[in-house]
Amino acid sequence: MSDAHVIKYLKGEQIFHVGDSANCAYIVESGEIALFSDTKEGDLIATLEKGELLGEMGVINGLDRSVSAFANTDVELLVIDSEQITMRLQNSDPIIRGVMEVLLRRIRNMLGDGDSTNSKNNIVVTEGMHKIRFEKEMFLAFDNDEIINVYQPMVSLEDGEIAGFEALSRWRHPEKGMISPFEFISLAEESDFIVPMGLKIFDSACKQLVEFQAIRDQANVGSPPLFMSINVSAAQLAAANFLNEVKKIATKYAINPSNIKIEITESMVVDYKSVQSWIDECSEFGFKLSLDDFGTGHSGFEHLLELDFHTIKIDQTFVKSMTSNPKSLILLEMITTMAQRMKMSIVAEGIEDLNSANKLKEMGVNYGQGYYFFKPMNRHDLLKIL
Ligand code: C2E
Ligand code: CA
Ligand code: CA
Repeated sequence: MSDAHVIKYLKGEQIFHVGDSANCAYIVESGEIALFSDTKEGDLIATLEKGELLGEMGVINGLDRSVSAFANTDVELLVIDSEQITMRLQNSDPIIRGVMEVLLRRIRNMLGDGDSTNSKNNIVVTEGMHKIRFEKEMFLAFDNDEIINVYQPMVSLEDGEIAGFEALSRWRHPEKGMISPFEFISLAEESDFIVPMGLKIFDSACKQLVEFQAIRDQANVGSPPLFMSINVSAAQLAAANFLNEVKKIATKYAINPSNIKIEITESMVVDYKSVQSWIDECSEFGFKLSLDDFGTGHSGFEHLLELDFHTIKIDQTFVKSMTSNPKSLILLEMITTMAQRMKMSIVAEGIEDLNSANKLKEMGVNYGQGYYFFKPMNRHDLLKIL
């Protein structure tokens, strides 16, 4: 550590005064500091010793010093550049930043320094507060059954029949209308709320499969059983009880677990050891595992090598560009051949035209999903087409 970053003060010297601009914070390396509300004749607020942080408040909220600091003994201070703290803060969870801002403002008010409206970081408060509010709304929506599933059929490319569905969640907001999972799933993942939410999604999807299967049985006896694909994210895999709970749900509805496919996104599997045991236990129970968004991450092939997936789901980007970019076609052929040789079932998603559907069928892709066949639909509309 360069000495240039260590500043020394002699006993009795002032380090900063109320109203000074706050361009850095310090860690006390040795000695003792006293914080006063103004001069040494003012109120003593705190004394700080080795290892403690000094002057962080102004750095965090971009305001002037709200107290005065004096050396009680000879002291050495390690200078912490403000960027070191503000950059971390900018990259941190907006909710944590929001809470921190509120706390700082409250402390400043307690110190009698109420004018914190000009903080250059005030934007952070608004963003953080917005997120806290949205999260709270999401919790309430969950309790009010506003988080629902829609189902997108997957079609057997061989005969054009509906073979199964993917459960996709939606937030049916009373004022904003349907909110996309892109807007709330990641928020639910951050707070681990995805665990109870995911269980409810799983429960509805299983319940729905039973009904769809009953309709199918009436209409078309003898066709293979329908399957339901359900998205599961990393935070859910990590939750201790998640697998036990989903097993219970499948048992409750007397569903053959082999008709449930758990979709895991390629990019989310990072720690093989922990995921491996999860996947093994899942397969032992009979659930099928599907590797979602294949081709988008950088470790898809490694996943195939290390983990046992039943199904590979080719990402939409390849399918969308197959008519315009010949290289996409080559990649698709390669992925399909590989999956076939590994005896895996193949789904192509994002199919939007007949031409692509036909090409994928020729290649040997088993199932197709996309707007060309069906958009995600609610139960009511699906009952009609089944
Ligand atoms: P995903 O699993 O890759 O789901 C496929 C997305 O592509 C869906 O978007 C679907 O509506 C859309 N899609 C399907 N066919 C087409 C097509 O032909 N063209 C186009 N342009 N899009 C198509 P959606 O429903 O907005 O879901 C977005 C993502 O949110 C999902 O991507 C999934 O990662 C996540 N998600 C959705 N529901 C859940 C859930 O219940 N749990 C978890 N953990 N994640 C979910
Ligand atoms: Ca999916
Ligand atoms: Ca996908």
